Amino acid sequence: MTITPKPTQTIPDTGIYERRESIVRSYARSMPRQFHRAENVWMHDNQGGRYLDFLSGCSTLNYGHNHPILKQALLDYIMADGITHGLDLHTDAKAAFLESFEEVILQPRKLNYRAMFTGPTGTNAVEAAIKLARKITGREMVIAFTNGFHGMTLGALACTGNAAKRGGAGVPLSHVSHEPYDGYHGPDVDTADLLEQRLSDPSSGLDAPAAILVETVQGEGGLNAASPAWLRKIAAIAKRHGALLIVDDIQAGCGRTGGFFSFEDMGFTPDIVTLAKSLSGMGLPFALTLFRAELDQWSPGEHNGTFRGNNHAFVTATAALRHFWSNDSFAADVRRRGALLESRLDKMAREHGLTTRGRGMMRGIDVGSGEIASVITAACFARGLIIETSGPRDEIVKVLAPLIIDDAVLSAGLDILETSVRETLAASFGVAAE
Ligand SMILES: *Cc1c(COP(=O)(O)O)cnc(C)c1O
Repeated sequence: MTITPKPTQTIPDTGIYERRESIVRSYARSMPRQFHRAENVWMHDNQGGRYLDFLSGCSTLNYGHNHPILKQALLDYIMADGITHGLDLHTDAKAAFLESFEEVILQPRKLNYRAMFTGPTGTNAVEAAIKLARKITGREMVIAFTNGFHGMTLGALACTGNAAKRGGAGVPLSHVSHEPYDGYHGPDVDTADLLEQRLSDPSSGLDAPAAILVETVQGEGGLNAASPAWLRKIAAIAKRHGALLIVDDIQAGCGRTGGFFSFEDMGFTPDIVTLAKSLSGMGLPFALTLFRAELDQWSPGEHNGTFRGNNHAFVTATAALRHFWSNDSFAADVRRRGALLESRLDKMAREHGLTTRGRGMMRGIDVGSGEIASVITAACFARGLIIETSGPRDEIVKVLAPLIIDDAVLSAGLDILETSVRETLAASFGVAAE
C-alpha cells in the first residue's frame, strides 16, 4: 500500500491561468501544480507527482476521491440514460435518494424533517433556511456568531463574520447580529447567558430574532467546537424567544464529527438544518435544507432554481448513504480515528506550547499567526501533503483528511505535518531545526 507522497518539485507553466482566469482564484496559488487524476486520499499531478489530501475539498470529499462504489453507481446510471437534469420533476434517482435518506438517516434518529432541494451550493441552502425563518416568524433579524461562515451570497454573507469576505458584498449587509460564539470571551464567560440576557432585556437594543444560525464546529472560522451544554442553551434560548434554530451542518455534517449530523446525541433538535459539501459523497454539487414538517410553509416555487436537485448527485448520495450509513460501523471508525488525530495534534501542541481545536475528524492546531501557518502549509505541500488554514487570521492549520483514510496513511501525513511545524517554529524563533 502506498503511504508516502511523492511531490513534483518543479512548478509547471501557469500562463493560461494568469492570462485568462480571474485573479479571484485562491487555493491554486498555494498549490501551483496541474492535477489530472485522484483516487482515495491521493491527488496526482500531470508530472507524475502524488499528493496526500488533508483538505478533502474543505470536507466535500469525506469518502475520498472517486470512491469505487459511488463511481460505479454513477457510471451505471449514466450508461442507462438516467435523467441528468429534470428541474424538480420526480425521478427514479430522487425517489431512491429520499427513500434512503428517510430509512438510513431520518428514521433511526427519530427526525421528522422534510427535505427541500435548493440550488446546489451550500450558500443556497443557507439562503433558503433564513428566508423560511423570516417568512414563518415575520421577523427580520437573524442571530449569527463571531467567526461564523455561511456562504458568499448576500443573505448568507450577512451571517458570515469575516471582514474580508463581507467586504466583497459592495452593499450594506444588514439584519444580522453577530453574537459571541462559545468561548469567544474566554473559558469563564458563558456567551449563551450573555445572549439570553440581551434577548430578555427590553432595552438591550437587540431585536427579536427570526432565527439563530449556528455551526456546532466552525469550519472556516477556526475549528472552534461549541460544547453540547452551550448548544443546548442556545436551542432553549431560540425556543424561549420564538426564533427558529438553524444548524449549518454543511461542513461539520455527513460524518465529519463522527455522526451523520454534528448535533447527534446532544439533547436538542434543530428546527432547520443545512447540508451540502459531502452530501453527494463524490464532490458533485448538491445541497439540502431540512426542516420540521410544520415549518413547510412555502408556496410552490417560492424559492426556486434551475439546478434544484442534481440527479447525478442523488445517485452518488444514495450509494454513499447505503454503503456508509446503513449501520454504525463507519461512524464508529470515524470516532476512533478522530481520537487518534486528537492525540497526535495534542502531542504536537504540547511540544511547542500551542493549542488545538475541533472535534472528530475536524481538527486544527493554532500556530499563532497566519504567516507562520502559511509557511507550515507550504512546507507540507513541498513534502506532498495538501493542507490548508482557517481562522480569523488564517492562524489555524486544519486537518480535514478524508474519513476513509487508512490509519497508517493518516499517521504518515501527520508525520509530515509534525516535521513541518517543528522546522517552521524552530526557524521562526531563530533556533536551528533538529
Ligand atoms: C462551505 C460552507 C458554506 C457554503 O457552501 P458553498 O457550497 O461554498 O456555497 C456554508 N456554511 C458552511 C458551514 C460551510 O462550511
